[in-house]
Amino acid sequence: MSAIKNILILPGDGIGPEVMHEVRRVIDWMSRRRGIAFNLSEDLVGGASIDARGTPISDATLQRAKDADAVLFGAVGGPKWESLGFDMRPEIAILRLRSELGLFANLRPAIVYDPLIDASTLKAEIVRGLDLMIVRESTGGIYFGTPRGIETLPDGTRRGVNTEVYTTPEIERVARVAFDLARQRQQRVCSVEKANVMESGLLWRQTVQALGDAEYPDVALSHMYADNCAMQLVRNPRQFDVIVTGNLFGDLLSDLASMLTGSLGMLPSATLGQPDATGRRHALYEPIHGSAPDITGKGVANPLAQILSFAMLLRYSFGMTEDAALIERACVAVLANGLRTPDVMAPGCARVGTQVMGEAVVRELDKLLG
Ligand code: NAD
Repeated sequence: MSAIKNILILPGDGIGPEVMHEVRRVIDWMSRRRGIAFNLSEDLVGGASIDARGTPISDATLQRAKDADAVLFGAVGGPKWESLGFDMRPEIAILRLRSELGLFANLRPAIVYDPLIDASTLKAEIVRGLDLMIVRESTGGIYFGTPRGIETLPDGTRRGVNTEVYTTPEIERVARVAFDLARQRQQRVCSVEKANVMESGLLWRQTVQALGDAEYPDVALSHMYADNCAMQLVRNPRQFDVIVTGNLFGDLLSDLASMLTGSLGMLPSATLGQPDATGRRHALYEPIHGSAPDITGKGVANPLAQILSFAMLLRYSFGMTEDAALIERACVAVLANGLRTPDVMAPGCARVGTQVMGEAVVRELDKLLG
């Protein structure tokens, strides 16, 4: 990796630019107080790109994403572009970025911060201290497998088909991401499938076990059926450290896990590609929320998911764990001080907007640094 850290910023639509503005504040702070210079570039994506260039993402923007060390993405979409044909939807930008950058491992942390413990629908004693990571395979499985389609049978009835398919290299590369993450955490991986009823699940289980035995004997590996995992996530979520699973089960389980924390405006994510010989890998970081057209322009969007996505970028693309932890601590401190955007408002707290929240994070960073 080059010494200069090249980040491509794609704010997108709706609240995307609003929350990204607050990340810029944190980046400015880092260069001012930590002497860390980033080489930032910014480009259009989603509806903003459709309006200006007639495409959800231009080839030039895709190339800039490939050249960057990391991409920080906001959100795309909105009512203005909803009636466009499928190929012209703003969301195509994300799909193209994922496929052209080979982003196959989606990381979704589910962390319950103490000040927000009451935002969870589960009892505080179940979720207190929760910190789990779901690693979802995101370019294979049933969403991409063939044959697929809807056909009309000779008797006039119709038949819909999708195919769950995984090869050993596809399973190994995503399992490796999970094992490597576990080594930086509590050294536990739970691999999730339905090996009891699906051959692809059986291969998944055998492949993850073989990789664990051969390369990660220091990581405790367990296996769980996906239906049981859904139950366990609600019953006792703290039993998990890293969960690794395929595209379909990961889609469901990561949404379930994120709601254990209670708020969309707080949740970051990362999607990683395959490392090359030098260890450099493509990576995209984004909040899990969308462009929130209902609150766009009102100055009330919670910027913390976007700021925490930037912290993930520092940790996973640049190995800057200390700086990432500093930003995470500053976000929690702001909440602990009782500042809240409306989405996480609680009795006795002070209701603030996007900008005040961003400024408060920077103030906390100053305090933490002393
Ligand atoms: P959404 O995540 O945009 O909003 C759902 C609800 O959560 C809304 O009430 C919104 O106000 C609230 N919310 C979301 N983020 C918030 C934040 N940071 N602070 C405070 N409140 C927040 O999902 P949606 O309404 O289903 O979709 C809106 C648009 O976003 C659609 O066009 C959809 O296709 C798009 N979308 C994009 C992405 C993405 O870019 N990755 C993801 C999901 C949805």
